[in-house]
Amino acid sequence: MESKEQKKARVIKIIATLKKTHPDAKLALDFTNPLELLISLILAAQCRDDLVNTVTPALFKKYKTAADYAKANPATLQEEIHKISFFRVKTKSIIKATTFLVENFGGKVPDKLDQLLEVPAVGRKTANVLLGNAFGIPGIGVDRHVARVSGRLGLTKNEDPDKIEADLTPIVPIKDQIKFCHLLQYHGRRICVARIPKCPECSINSLCLYPNKTKPV
Ligand code: SF4
Repeated sequence: MESKEQKKARVIKIIATLKKTHPDAKLALDFTNPLELLISLILAAQCRDDLVNTVTPALFKKYKTAADYAKANPATLQEEIHKISFFRVKTKSIIKATTFLVENFGGKVPDKLDQLLEVPAVGRKTANVLLGNAFGIPGIGVDRHVARVSGRLGLTKNEDPDKIEADLTPIVPIKDQIKFCHLLQYHGRRICVARIPKCPECSINSLCLYPNKTKPV
């Protein structure tokens, strides 16, 4: 049975190794301010980040403020994001979230977790990713890659994202929490992929409690 201290030490080694494996790891969504990141994160739910990045440049050029989105014509906005999965629902989410920002936060995206969680369409993952990447405030944003890879690594036994966040937060050094998420996302896309993880070529194989799930080809 691994102690919490042993787990923390293993996490430090995992981070150091993955930094070498994925030196380019960063948030895959393009944005230049917190509002743009919020819109991108709403669009990215169950949708590939690279596809979101093809839609947002025109959107960000047209809609500069939360008020711009809040008063958008829904049919027009739907058409502008129609390449994105669930575009009708996401149109409603964008308008609801930005209307809330206008009515409650002067149109600004707040930089406090409890305030972000009040915003419609913002859950803990979105809030933590926003805080980390738009404001530099540490936190663990649990997306499907972070959930899957941390589970396979034996860092959590939970499947609920909020519980996974609670498991990871105390064992990942605060200074590395934002980077840790990016590293697990890249590792999850490239090596520890959903269907069959590429364990034989994994740089953290020896640090993983569940190595060699796949056999060398
Ligand atoms: S050894 Fe396999 S299961 Fe573990 S992190 Fe690497 S690819 Fe994923």
